[in-house]
Amino acid sequence: MTRPVFRFAPSPNGRLHLGHAFSALENERLARALGGRLLLRIEDIDTTRCRPEHEAAIRDDLAWLGIPFEAEVWRQSERFAVYEAEAERLRARGLLYPCACTRAEIAAAIAEREARTGVPHPRDPDGALLYPGTCRARASSEVLAEGRPIAWRLDMARALAEAPGPHAYLRFHETGATTRVPTDPARWGDAVIVRKEIPTSYHLSVVVDDAAQGVTHVVRGRDLEAATDLHVLLQRLLGLPSPLYHHHALLRDEAGEKLAKSAGAPPLADLRARGITPSDLRARLYPETT
Ligand code: GLU
Repeated sequence: MTRPVFRFAPSPNGRLHLGHAFSALENERLARALGGRLLLRIEDIDTTRCRPEHEAAIRDDLAWLGIPFEAEVWRQSERFAVYEAEAERLRARGLLYPCACTRAEIAAAIAEREARTGVPHPRDPDGALLYPGTCRARASSEVLAEGRPIAWRLDMARALAEAPGPHAYLRFHETGATTRVPTDPARWGDAVIVRKEIPTSYHLSVVVDDAAQGVTHVVRGRDLEAATDLHVLLQRLLGLPSPLYHHHALLRDEAGEKLAKSAGAPPLADLRARGITPSDLRARLYPETT
C-alpha cells in the first residue's frame, strides 16, 4: 500500500504564530498516526505580499519546531504556467468568464439591486457579498476589449450543470475512519479563479498542487473548511482526485478571537527569543499527552 501524503502549506506573507505552529503540529501528529509522509509547500502566489525573508523565517521556525518535513519543498510562485494551463482548460469549456468590475462597481451594483428589490444581497461563507453577475451577462469579447485589468470568474451555474451534485468530501479521523460531509459550492457564487494581478488564485493553485503532489490527507484550520466546497467542485471539473480532509480547531486568544497576524498574535520567533523551547510549546498545545 502507498503511504498517505500530508502537507503543510503556509503563505510567507508574515511570520508564523502559534496558530500556524499548531497546524503544522497537527499535520505531524496525524501523519505519524497514519504512517504518512509530510511535505512542505510554500504558497507564495501573492507576489505583492509574500517575501523571501518571510519564507526563510518560516523554514527556520519549522526547523526549530523539529517537524520532519521531506527535503523537497514546492514553491507556488514557480508554478504559474501550470495554473494558467489548468485555468485555460476551464476557460475553453466556457466555465470561466472575464470580469473587469472593480470593488466599487460591484458595491454600487449591489446597492442598486438592494434598493430596487428591498432584499439583502447574499454573502459567501467568509462574509463577502456574492458577485452580482454583471460581467457574466456581457459578451466576453466586449469585456476584454475594454483593456481594463481582468479577473476570471467561475460561472457557477454552468459549473454545476457540468458537475451536478450532490457534492461531498470525506473527513478523516485519527483512527483512519472517514465521515461523508455534504458540500454546497453554490454558496460561493461566481468565485474568482484567476485574479487580476496574479495568473491564479488560492483556490485554483491549492487544488492543482494537492493533486500534483499526490496529497491524500489535507490538514488545515476550520477557517478553510467552507472553501473545501469550492475545492471539491474544482477537483470534479478538472478531473482531479479529492484528498481526505481534516479541519482542526483554531487557537484563540484570551478574548476568544482567532489568532491572527493582523490581530497581533505573537510570532513564534518572539516566543523563541523569550526562551520557550519546542517541547514547552508542544506541552502547551497538547497538555493531555505530557
Ligand atoms: N496557504 C494557506 C494559508 O496559509 C493554507 C492553504 C491550505 O492549507 O489549504 O492559509
